[in-house]
Amino acid sequence: MIQLGCSLLGSAIADDRSWEMDDYQAATARWCSGCGDHAVLAAVQRFLADLQLPPEETVFVSGIGCSSRFPHYINSYGFHGLHGRALPLATGIKLRRPELQVFVVMGDGDCCSIGAAHWIHTTRYNPNMVALMLDNGVYGLTKNQTSPTSPKGVRSNTQPKGAFLEGMNPIATTLGVENASFVAQTGDWVPDHIYAVLKAAYEHRGFSFVRILQRCPQYTDQLYLNAMRDSNTIELLVHPDGVDVPALKQIYKNEVYHDPADLVNAFRLAQLDDKIRLGVFYRNDDLPVYEEVRRVSPKTADEKIAILNAELDTYAL
Ligand code: SF4
Repeated sequence: MIQLGCSLLGSAIADDRSWEMDDYQAATARWCSGCGDHAVLAAVQRFLADLQLPPEETVFVSGIGCSSRFPHYINSYGFHGLHGRALPLATGIKLRRPELQVFVVMGDGDCCSIGAAHWIHTTRYNPNMVALMLDNGVYGLTKNQTSPTSPKGVRSNTQPKGAFLEGMNPIATTLGVENASFVAQTGDWVPDHIYAVLKAAYEHRGFSFVRILQRCPQYTDQLYLNAMRDSNTIELLVHPDGVDVPALKQIYKNEVYHDPADLVNAFRLAQLDDKIRLGVFYRNDDLPVYEEVRRVSPKTADEKIAILNAELDTYAL
């Protein structure tokens, strides 16, 4: 889905344009009423407007699922791709056009099941992009099947007596991958926190994996109900190198000062299940990014022809 004229892409537009939040709005969102995706979309549009990211230099890539309708609702370039394949598609875009701002939106089924191999390897490749994984603990678009992150006991059409296994832990899993460089968690009902995490993720140089706990009132309405009603169930991870939102201190009394450079403590915090932890678990800005590792020097037309001729000569008899 290309929403702007291709002629805009890559052309240097020197003008005094500016964008309001509404300028990033494309089609009207068709998610259910009360769906957490609406809040994430609003936070993303606010972020785009605050940073004044030119729509023609911004790309949203998605897979399949409710949240993967995101590119239709953002006025930028967009690619609504195949189930589980958003990350390799986005990596290809970043390799070819490293100057573009690339964002990926995936659901929990999309990322942690059919796309799991891409999730692991994109973390290892470390391209400079932001990946948002909206986790509602269910396959919503296909109407209520158990997903990899469905908590044990949650009923669905595929496991009507309740999920057999404990849900997987996407934060701990990502932290365990070689080259993981930014791992954070936020919740759709805390818009200021989504915004702060999104900004930190964008400013990080490397692959920023952000799990957004997302309400699905249609199929998993109980999942984050306690977290919304009782602020005591939440603990904020705060640090100058992570996020620290002063306005939230009025609401959330539990906070822990966590240095995101400390991978061992990040693992420990990710595996505790007494509270929901929101913030940046880990950050390392010094790892090489994939588009630089794989950078190919530009070639002239004559150089390209010489390379082609050399290749063809290998078949000469
Ligand atoms: Fe949102 Fe759930 Fe409705 Fe999908 S099914 S749009 S995730 S509320």
